[in-house]
Amino acid sequence: MSKIVIIGSGLAGSLLAIYLAKRGFNVEVYEARPDMRKVKISAGRSINLALSDRGILALNQVGLDNYILKEAIPMYGRMVHTLDGQNKFLPYSGRKGEYINSISRAGLNCALMDEAEKYGNVKIFFNSRCIGFDCHTGEAIIENLESAERKIVKGETLFAADGAGSVVRNAMLHGCVPRFNFSQSWLEHGYKELHIPPAEDGSFRMEKNALHIWARHSFMMIALPNPDGSFTCTLFLAHEGEKDSFESLKDENLLLSFFHKHFADAVPLMPTLVEDFFKNPTGNLGSIRCSPWYIDDKALLLGDAAHAIVPFYGQGMNCAFEDCRILNELIEEHGTDWKKIFKIFTEIRKPNTDAIADMAEENFYEMRDAVTDPVFQRKRELETKLEQTFPDYFSKYSMVTFREDLPYKVAKEKGNAQDKLLMEICSKIENTSEINLNEVMEKIRKLNLQSDNTYLENR
Ligand SMILES: Cc1cc2nc3c(=O)[nH]c(=O)nc-3n(C[C@H](O)[C@H](O)[C@H](O)COP(=O)(O)OP(=O)(O)OC[C@H]3O[C@@H](n4cnc5c(N)ncnc54)[C@H](O)[C@@H]3O)c2cc1C
Repeated sequence: MSKIVIIGSGLAGSLLAIYLAKRGFNVEVYEARPDMRKVKISAGRSINLALSDRGILALNQVGLDNYILKEAIPMYGRMVHTLDGQNKFLPYSGRKGEYINSISRAGLNCALMDEAEKYGNVKIFFNSRCIGFDCHTGEAIIENLESAERKIVKGETLFAADGAGSVVRNAMLHGCVPRFNFSQSWLEHGYKELHIPPAEDGSFRMEKNALHIWARHSFMMIALPNPDGSFTCTLFLAHEGEKDSFESLKDENLLLSFFHKHFADAVPLMPTLVEDFFKNPTGNLGSIRCSPWYIDDKALLLGDAAHAIVPFYGQGMNCAFEDCRILNELIEEHGTDWKKIFKIFTEIRKPNTDAIADMAEENFYEMRDAVTDPVFQRKRELETKLEQTFPDYFSKYSMVTFREDLPYKVAKEKGNAQDKLLMEICSKIENTSEINLNEVMEKIRKLNLQSDNTYLENR
C-alpha cells in the first residue's frame, strides 16, 4: 500500500493514523514535540478535556472507546458556585446515561499514539517539525529539532493535523492556494490553568462528578476533576483592563483580594494559587475559519488546523475526532480518489464546523452570564423535565453533546429555535410547575418539523 504523510501527532493526527493504518496504508507521522511518553512536557493546552458522544463514537470505530472511558470521570452536570457560597447542580440532561467525561489530554494522546504504533505500518517521527509545504509538488519540508537536519517528505497525499498554528495552512494562505479564505478572531479573554489538589486522604475536595463553574458575568472559572482526586481549574478573564483582568492582577495582594471577593469558597481549596497563577502561562482563545481545506489531491487540513474554536462547548477535540470518522467513511466509499474525498469532506464538514464555532462563542456568554440568571435556570429546569418526560426532546446542549447522529448545523438551528421559545415561556412564570409540559412539547415538535423541512429542502 502507498504512503500517507500526517503532520502532527496530537489528538486528531494520532487518531487518524489509527484509522489509516487499519486500512493498510503506510503512515508516516511527523510531530514537532518530543515523545510525551518519554519526556515530561507540558501538554500545551488544557490538562483535561471533556469527551462526549461525537468523540466517543469516533473512538468506538477503532475499538478504543471503552479503554479510554475507563480512565475518564463522568460529569453529570454543572455545579454552579454562587457568589454567596451556595452550590446549585444543573444536570446536563434529564435522561440517564447522558453525561460528559473528564479525561487527561496527555493520557488520551499517549493512548492514541500507543495504539497507532501497534500497527507495523505506522511510524511517528518526534522532534520533527514541518517548516514548509509545496502545494504544487505535495512535498513537506521537515526539520529535525535535535540535529537541525532537513529532509523532504512526500506521500500519496498529506493530512495536516498540525493544530491551530498549522504550517500547511499558512503555506496555502501565503500564495499556494489562490483566493484562500482565512479569518482568525481572538476573544478579549484569555485563560490560565490553576489547581485544586486532592484532600489529605486522597479524596475530592468538591463534588467529583460535575463540571464546577463560578460564573461572574465578565469572567468565570471552571474546574474539571482528575482521577488522582485533584481538579484542574481554568480561569477565563480579560487580558487587559484596569480592573478584573490578567493585566490588573499584578501582585499577590491584588490576586488574593480578587479571588477572595469572587471565588471565596474556592480559595481555601487552592493552596498553590499564588504560585500557580504567576508561574502558569496565560493562553489566548480564538476561532479560525478558512476555506478551501484542501489542495487538489495533495493535502487536506483537519482538526484545529482547519477549524480551531473556543473551548466553551467542550467540542474542539470531539469535532476533530468526528472529522477523522467522517473522513474514514469517505475513504470507505471512494477509495483513494483523494480529490473527490477532500471536496466532499469539505462540503459536508465546513457548514457544521462553522455552526459549532458559532455555538461555542455563544456558550461563552451563556456560561459566563446566563447560568446565574433565574430565567435561564428555570429554562434548564424545564429542559430537564422535558427530557425526563419525552424521549424525543433534546435541548440544544444535548443535541450538540449527546446526538452524534445530528450534524452540528441542525443542532444549532433546532436548538436556537427551541431556546427562544423556552426562554419566552420561562420569562413569564415564577416556577416551572406552572408549565403544561404537553403543550410545550407540542410547540417544540412543530418547530422541529419546520426545521427538518428546511434542512431537507436545502440539502
Ligand atoms: C483551554 C482549552 C480547553 C479545551 N477543552 C476542550 C474540551 O473540554 N473538549 C474538547 O473537545 N476540546 C477542548 N479543547 C479543544 C481541543 O484542545 C482541540 O480542539 C484539539 O486539541 C484539536 O486537536 P488537533 O489534533 O487538531 O490539534 P492539537 O491537539 O493542537 O495537535 C496538533 C499537533 O501538531 C503538532 N504540531 C504543530 N505544528 C507542527 C509542525 N509544524 N510540525 C509538526 N507537528 C506540529 C503539535 O505539537 C501537536 O501535537 C480545548 C482547548 C483549549 C485551548
